[in-house]
Amino acid sequence: MANARLGAMQDWTMRVTAVIDHAAREAGEREIVTRWADGSITRTNWAGIRKDACKMAQALQRLGLRPGDKVASLAMNHSRHLVSWYGVAGMGGVLHTVNPRLFDDQLDYIVNHAEDRVLCYDAAFQPIVDRMKDRWPTVEHYICYDSGDHAPAFEDWIGSEDGDFEWVTGPENDPCMICYTSGTTGNPKGVQYEHRSTVLHAMAGLQPAAFNFSSASVMLPVVPMFHAASWGLPYAGAMAGIKFVFSAVNDPAVLHDLMIGEGVTDSAGVPTVWLAHFQYCDANGLDLPPLKAATIGGSAAPKFMIERLLKNGTRVQHAWGMTETSPIGTVGGPTWDWDSLSLEEKVEKTAMQGRPIFGVQLRTVDLADMTTELPRDGKTSGALQIRGPWIIKRYFKAEADAVGNDGWFDTGDVGIIHPDGTLQLTDRTKDVIKSGGEWISSVELENAACGHPGVAEAACIGIFHPKWDERPVLFVVKKAGAEVTSEDILEHLKPQIAKWWMPDAVEFVDDIPHTATGKISKKDLRERFRDYALG
Ligand code: ADP
Repeated sequence: MANARLGAMQDWTMRVTAVIDHAAREAGEREIVTRWADGSITRTNWAGIRKDACKMAQALQRLGLRPGDKVASLAMNHSRHLVSWYGVAGMGGVLHTVNPRLFDDQLDYIVNHAEDRVLCYDAAFQPIVDRMKDRWPTVEHYICYDSGDHAPAFEDWIGSEDGDFEWVTGPENDPCMICYTSGTTGNPKGVQYEHRSTVLHAMAGLQPAAFNFSSASVMLPVVPMFHAASWGLPYAGAMAGIKFVFSAVNDPAVLHDLMIGEGVTDSAGVPTVWLAHFQYCDANGLDLPPLKAATIGGSAAPKFMIERLLKNGTRVQHAWGMTETSPIGTVGGPTWDWDSLSLEEKVEKTAMQGRPIFGVQLRTVDLADMTTELPRDGKTSGALQIRGPWIIKRYFKAEADAVGNDGWFDTGDVGIIHPDGTLQLTDRTKDVIKSGGEWISSVELENAACGHPGVAEAACIGIFHPKWDERPVLFVVKKAGAEVTSEDILEHLKPQIAKWWMPDAVEFVDDIPHTATGKISKKDLRERFRDYALG
């Protein structure tokens, strides 16, 4: 007799192949549009993506790939890249999305560390392949997504298969994708997403508290498919059966035309992407596209950006996360009291990093001992920790777990949690400045300095001080032609920050170092000013 104490529902293994099966069955005709680097536009749909993914899985098996093998992609956003997301997972493989902006030593390290056997790449990245080929001994096969002269073309390669393929099955904890963190310290680290974690993350991502997808959504993701699983959009979008519009180039003029021409309702990208779009519209006397929603993440969304989008009638979803968190941790959007707020209040609220979606838990702990949990009082800042089924447990090939005994992963971020659950990021643990036993947020000083009309970019680091331990020094890049003195900057900061937060010096520099993902590299800045001494 069946065990009456157990539930009696069906056993479905959560694998990402179920996601593409659903999209093809229930939204098979929904379009997937790609604007290629050469300006041409192609159209397929979810049924077509699934068919091609089956063919790719067959083609990979023909090359001798087995479940668990890694296939790398070095590519921008387009339909063939999307096919690879499902095709590789469908044959039981693991897609390694490689960031083409990494430095050569990082590219060398990650492809060898992952032991990628096949590498699919855009013709635009042929120079990288030519340069790196000898340093990538594990890669046995190169496939070019475009009709490349140096490697089989993707369409021809999968074109000889019939697409009659049963997905490879296995445990839902099997890996399906690996992304490396850009490694602001040491070597990049591999984060392996599981089928299960990916499905759960995507289900959470499409809900109204996050991306707010429906089958009517038309999404142009600017966040690259090679960065943090493109925030899970290709999976969440498939679940909701949305229309995708991909662009293989990130030129704002191209994006703008696509948004208008293809009826795009939603887009997602880091703040610099939105900034470039604003500048393009301003320079050409154009209105912003009539987007319903804009997701901004990867670094803090500035207030002026939020305000302009809100005034445009665009819902702003300010998201926080990291490669280690699949990546969605928190997302901001309209709250229950939204309609009663003034524009200024809405901007203030949206400038914070939003609230955890179901599936993740957050807490802050004391920076000094890294264990004492802090109150969610909207004012106490501490080290931000996270846990949940799509949060990293262990880095790829690492001996030890990346989480403490209690299962919390330390994000390296510093933040405040408000009583309503809203997260407000204030800094990175490594960058926060310790002065006389108190903490100064380098990010807040930078944001305040960037509000000065003559400042193009600002970065703040702690410099050794015999009495206070560390004191903040602000490094500033002036806007072209701007006449600014350090006194001007300090005057500008005065009303915005506590007196003891005042930088001990403001230094003007020609440039500030950046990481491969375009973020300020404090590590390099500290290195550059290693011998800097406070007068
Ligand atoms: P990488 O670590 O490779 O630079 P990630 O995308 O994993 O790339 O970066 C994650 C980090 O980016 C977070 O730990 C946080 O410091 C920062 N970040 C992400 N989203 C936001 C945001 N909305 N506001 C401020 N910082 C953010």
